[in-house]
Amino acid sequence: MPPSPLELPPETMRLMISAAMDRIIPHLESLPTQPMRGTRGSRRLARSLREPMPEQGTDFEKLLSLLFHRVIPASLNTASPGYLAYIPGGGIFHAAVADLIADATNRYVGVWMAAPGLVALEANVIAWFCAMLGLPEGSGGVLTSGGSLANLIAVVTARRERLPPAFLEGVIYTSSEAHHSVAKAALIAGFPEERVRAIRADARFRLPPEILAAAIEEDRARGLEPFLVVASAGTTGTGAVDDLEAIAEVARVARVWFHVDAAYGGFFALTDRGRAALKGIEHADSVTLDPHKSLFLPYGTGCLVVRDQGALRRTHAVSASYMPTMQTDDDLVDFCDLSPELSRDVRGLRVWLPLKMHGAGVFREALDEKLDLARTLADALRAIPHIEIVAEPELSLLAFRARPPGLEGEALDVFNRKLVKAIGGKQRVLLTGVKVRRATDAAPMFLLRACVLSFRTHRDRIDVCVEDVRTSLEELLREYAR
Ligand SMILES: *Cc1c(COP(=O)(O)O)cnc(C)c1O
Repeated sequence: MPPSPLELPPETMRLMISAAMDRIIPHLESLPTQPMRGTRGSRRLARSLREPMPEQGTDFEKLLSLLFHRVIPASLNTASPGYLAYIPGGGIFHAAVADLIADATNRYVGVWMAAPGLVALEANVIAWFCAMLGLPEGSGGVLTSGGSLANLIAVVTARRERLPPAFLEGVIYTSSEAHHSVAKAALIAGFPEERVRAIRADARFRLPPEILAAAIEEDRARGLEPFLVVASAGTTGTGAVDDLEAIAEVARVARVWFHVDAAYGGFFALTDRGRAALKGIEHADSVTLDPHKSLFLPYGTGCLVVRDQGALRRTHAVSASYMPTMQTDDDLVDFCDLSPELSRDVRGLRVWLPLKMHGAGVFREALDEKLDLARTLADALRAIPHIEIVAEPELSLLAFRARPPGLEGEALDVFNRKLVKAIGGKQRVLLTGVKVRRATDAAPMFLLRACVLSFRTHRDRIDVCVEDVRTSLEELLREYAR
């Protein structure tokens, strides 16, 4: 029998990696000059790529050409230093190498006994995150595919811990600025839509603690069962950090689970300024983190940490006769007992490797740079005539709009929508918009937002951003004056 073509000889493996690297390195090197959006003709491209499952193989080089010439360029350039849209991801290369090692060795980390060493490395990563947030002994968690899954696990865990099996009277509290994955988690967890109270955010886009406390009391008086408050440590819209200290106190008095969605802002806890902004997070029952945002990792790495690891086990542990014996020592975890997943990738390695290679200091410095850049950007934008900063950067995200004389309401929103489009049209930075309405606003308003979070974004690109905002605004004002 000849060897299976699926079993590659060593030389072929080396050649494959080397051929892939010959495409990856020029791609990464040209990132700063690639356009921000390569989505023109994307429908046609997407349809042209449809095909039945191939019976015959295709040459690897040909496939690489397809990927790097046609498929990958047709996208938002999310890895560009100019990507200030939504919440930027990272994509540090170390993580790709860690994934290569993890995928090639293909060990199983769902249960402890199958790979105790790899499970220990991943457990370390989680313990580091818990310590970073100031969670006590006994805390723990799981790495997830992202923040949405972490929020879902948090909602289900809080439901299991704080509500009876018939849980439909349970009520979840959050702010109108919370990420929509909270409402989605509630929906998937089986709560009717009216059981999620999105309390109107205050003038700084934060969840008002007194109104929260009153809402909980009112619902209890009506016979409902308040059980969970979700605070935001960096909202996606304007970057607002809720007053975690005050909300923790409301949650404590009301005896409800306190979850903090820190998917965007969480890793700023590595910095002094971030720690000050996130004060109170140490009281959380659970916290969502997204290493693929503020730890610069590639997409596919989220995390939920909880104050009491036992809560995750009580929510997820189910036994089966074909499974090995699960660990009962608290320091030896079976990840399948703490999350909905059984088989999964070795996520821990892509977090562990870069942290071990560089130490936390390199990440702290990079995050401090983002905090500085956001303030620099805010000051420079403020100096442009007719620009008003509506949300100052609490971390590295700010929101602003143009306020040319004579425009109000819907006409003003239309102007700002045109502005965000014009800035992106220059293909050097990408900003996105958001519609917000605070308790103090008579009507919703459209804002532009800039989030500085890529490890590739530095001062030069912030200057480019300011220049493109200024010139785009001038061009638009000229067009309106005609
Ligand atoms: C991005 C984000 C999420 C969702 O996380 P994913 O990793 O995209 O699933 C949730 N909450 C906040 C505040 C976010 O910024």
